[in-house]
Amino acid sequence: MAPIQVALRGCCPRCGKGRVFGGVIAFAPRCPACGLDLTSFNVGDGAASFLILIVGAIVTVLALWVELRFEPAWWVHVLLWLPLTIALSLVLMRFAKGLLLGLEYRHEAREGRL
Ligand SMILES: [Zn+2]
Repeated sequence: MAPIQVALRGCCPRCGKGRVFGGVIAFAPRCPACGLDLTSFNVGDGAASFLILIVGAIVTVLALWVELRFEPAWWVHVLLWLPLTIALSLVLMRFAKGLLLGLEYRHEAREGRL
């Protein structure tokens, strides 16, 4: 499977049938279809650091625009941006982790072994 397909569909990079996510953003230990060991992949915190910047920029620009355009009460900002921040973070984190897993599988990247 292409890494972008793994990212978009959350499917196994080897067989394309099983799901790699056991939770919302947590990997399952193994692919339920082909048994690929998913614990051997380490996507690390690389996705999170980029997503902090991306989600932060999107939410900040939208919040500034809404404030300057509509001047709503403070609680409107809380109701808008808190759920959006959480939803964007989860959706993009799942996408980024799937993409990194697909790339690691395609390029056979592993931690160093003796
Ligand atoms: Zn599989």
